[in-house]
Amino acid sequence: MDRTIKYDGVEGFIARLMDNYDVIAPVPREDRFVFDLLTEPSGAVMEYGTTLLPPVKWIYRNNEPLLKFDLEDIEKTKAVIDVRQQVLLFVHPCDINAINIMDEVLAEEPADENYLAIRRATVIIGYECLTPCREDTLCYDKGCHYADRGYDVIFTDIGSGFYVRVETGRGKEIVGGDPSFRKAVYDDRIALMLRRDEGGLRFGRAVAGEMGKLSHLLKENYDDDIWDVKGERCLSCGACNIVCPTCYCFDTVDEIGSDMREGCRYRRWDGCQLEGFCKVASGENFRDSAAARIRHRVFKKEVYLKKRFGRSGCVGCGRCIDSCMAGISIIDIFNHIMEKRHA
Ligand code: SF4
Ligand code: SF4
Repeated sequence: MDRTIKYDGVEGFIARLMDNYDVIAPVPREDRFVFDLLTEPSGAVMEYGTTLLPPVKWIYRNNEPLLKFDLEDIEKTKAVIDVRQQVLLFVHPCDINAINIMDEVLAEEPADENYLAIRRATVIIGYECLTPCREDTLCYDKGCHYADRGYDVIFTDIGSGFYVRVETGRGKEIVGGDPSFRKAVYDDRIALMLRRDEGGLRFGRAVAGEMGKLSHLLKENYDDDIWDVKGERCLSCGACNIVCPTCYCFDTVDEIGSDMREGCRYRRWDGCQLEGFCKVASGENFRDSAAARIRHRVFKKEVYLKKRFGRSGCVGCGRCIDSCMAGISIIDIFNHIMEKRHA
């Protein structure tokens, strides 16, 4: 059963969540917002622009310990899964859709047991966008300004407080026993529908053309000049990979203690835009130009993941555009490829 909560009831709800979970919420940081561990219930903000890193990075962590080992005693080698009960609070729909993609990709055999265990211990409380959170976003083109699954509960501002849709048994437990919520009634549901209708009008397309044809057009334009044009500007810094909520490539690094015996293997985020990503032991590099690497990133999102999972791997959050010091925009690339249809 859905619920409602008044604006002034939210802080008390967060305080009670903090009694039982690590609560990770959007907080202001200089001129940006980041998802961070809350120390005060009042620290969380609900209206925020795209965060620097997406919330999924609290599930798919950098420097995650994966394995403890003893070089002289194989019996002591054991997998490490560091699980904390946590809540990701006020997650935008694009980021919920990204977590849905990560859930699917990382559950494929061989499954990423660390990700899956942390994911199971993570409650997701969404916050529905009724207005775009930034200008250069393509979440609407991707249909990711809205999430129909992947959260336990989701809040929507209906003018008199928040409508709270409850999707899972865990969500029901969390809001069902909390005194700040009351059962939603008919008028609340009408208010939700009206707010959503109004909100829908505020979103617009960034890409001209049918997104359903993008994958096909990309394949037809594999050798297009756009890759060289963008490649000439690309700094191969990998920032676009690191900020992307659906980039999941990683490397492993072993650190050995001062006894030169016991050590730990860690997951370190990696990125296909880094020059060494495709370099192999013989010294060859299978993607030795920035142009080839940019093309790969776009094809990974729009062709390869689509072929494998039936949906694009880009949720249109715009973070890669925001983070690129060379001014390379995935929207420009998509629009260029879409124009090819008319060429
Ligand atoms: S490719 Fe860019 S716009 Fe798409 S999900 Fe990744 S960071 Fe967001
Ligand atoms: S952020 Fe921009 S400059 Fe850096 S690797 Fe990505 S496309 Fe290249």
